[in-house]
Amino acid sequence: MMDTQLVLTSFLKRAETYFAHKKIISRTSDTVTHELTYGEWAKRTRRLASALTKLGMTKGTKIGSFAWNQHRHLEAYFAVPCTGAILHMVNIRLSEEHLIYIINHAQDEVLLIDVDLLPIIEGIQDQLTTVKHYIVMTDDETLETTLPNAMSYEQLLAEADESFEFPEDLDENLPAGMCYTSATTGNPKGVVYTHRGLYLHSLMQAATDSMGICERDTVLPIVPMFHVNAWGLPFTSVNVGATLVLPGPQFTTGLIVDLIEQHRVTVTAGVPTIWLGVQQILEKETRDMSSLRTIFAGGSASPKGLIRTFEKKFNIPYTIAYGMTETTPIVSLGTKQSWMDDYSEEELADALSTQGMTVMGVESSIVNEDGEVPWDGETMGELRLRGPWISHEYYNDERTLDVYRDGWLYTGDIAVRTKDGLIKITDRTKDLIKSGGEWISSVDIENALMSHEAIFEAAVIAIPHVRWQERPLACVVLHEGAEVTKEEILEYLSTQFAKWWIPDDVVFLKEIPKTSVGKFLKAKLREELNTLYPM
Ligand code: ADP
Repeated sequence: MMDTQLVLTSFLKRAETYFAHKKIISRTSDTVTHELTYGEWAKRTRRLASALTKLGMTKGTKIGSFAWNQHRHLEAYFAVPCTGAILHMVNIRLSEEHLIYIINHAQDEVLLIDVDLLPIIEGIQDQLTTVKHYIVMTDDETLETTLPNAMSYEQLLAEADESFEFPEDLDENLPAGMCYTSATTGNPKGVVYTHRGLYLHSLMQAATDSMGICERDTVLPIVPMFHVNAWGLPFTSVNVGATLVLPGPQFTTGLIVDLIEQHRVTVTAGVPTIWLGVQQILEKETRDMSSLRTIFAGGSASPKGLIRTFEKKFNIPYTIAYGMTETTPIVSLGTKQSWMDDYSEEELADALSTQGMTVMGVESSIVNEDGEVPWDGETMGELRLRGPWISHEYYNDERTLDVYRDGWLYTGDIAVRTKDGLIKITDRTKDLIKSGGEWISSVDIENALMSHEAIFEAAVIAIPHVRWQERPLACVVLHEGAEVTKEEILEYLSTQFAKWWIPDDVVFLKEIPKTSVGKFLKAKLREELNTLYPM
């Protein structure tokens, strides 16, 4: 067989060749929506590659993006890797401290910034040590910013070459992109995606028995393009020539419903928080969602009631997707199998709320001290994964050995296998709280709490939340005789963390339950306190 390389350039060329007339709809502000064809997009992508090359981009250069889901970001998604460089999709929701760390750690030389996000980068510019060029993605001709030598994206494209040729000799194992993922404590960890990994992940997404993304689809990726490549949907959509709807900055659930209705969206993907918001709208208003063939929900567990409402009441199939930043991300899907047609309503609801079966190409294993767990729906173990789009290390990071062992990625997710072999996540070992699809480090908040003069011990746990899936709850033990109110504690934390990290409540305890070696027994705390905070 020929040893042709599995590189993203072939996706771009395919879109140019067959789908030049198909559309990308891209919202860039409340008042501006662009409609461009794949043909126009491909030319702009070549122009961007040419402009970045003139600025010094070459194989291995890191280009950071700080942007929403919009067409310019999609141009960078191909212009950068198809030239052999690496697109670092910076998570705009990280704290300033973590942003500075990851941009410096990745050694981004250029930053492509959405105009409404400029103030964040302006605020940290003095601490960015490797960035040489700032490029602002904006529809306006005037550019106002304190960033040194900032350039306008559109100006650069206007002066660039639309027939720019991408190198023919790219190796499929070259890095194409990278994202950072939050750690239990300390700085985020970088994950590098290769062309080969993204390519194969994309073929999987196009397979009928997985997500079945095809030319007839109109795909609305709600999951951000700065969060694990918007679950790979932009790459796959380009490869198959699906119509793409990109929702742009600061979108609301109301806008999502509008976009689905207006553009007859067939497939969309986002965290359960989004679907809870959409559910609220659909409960109140009559909206036409009949174009949807399925929605994908991942990033956190979906409540069974939510799945049932979509499936039964709205007649919209609700498919669970599971994955991690480390896994490109799709690893398993809760698709309905033929034998489930015979299931009772309850059995089906149970099956559809699991994380499903691993997709073709990925191997999963759930292990505990006794080895692989039986398919009994009860015995718990840690889920581990391997496959061609599962990363094998963190980028320049000693923490690699914490999760990559014996040729497997240990996910930190505790799971059981149902009688059908479906993966059902029951807990996690990672000491992190997932609120609306983004991580909060319980350890960082605990450390801050324990440096408060009145607090002796503190444990922060996740409590279930109807909208955000999980929210932090602070459990504190005060020093003898010390006095402090809940309000004072929350005020104290608010000077150190982003607003959405601040615990929803503080409970005062006499002691924190501990293991024999003195570690906090958070599972016990959760068990005791969860009932006090019902969903
Ligand atoms: P993403 O949010 O894009 O899936 P992250 O790396 O931020 O990626 O988070 C991965 C973690 O999120 C998983 O290890 C798991 O704990 C949780 N997770 C992801 N998808 C699901 C899901 N469908 N159900 C339950 N938990 C999930």
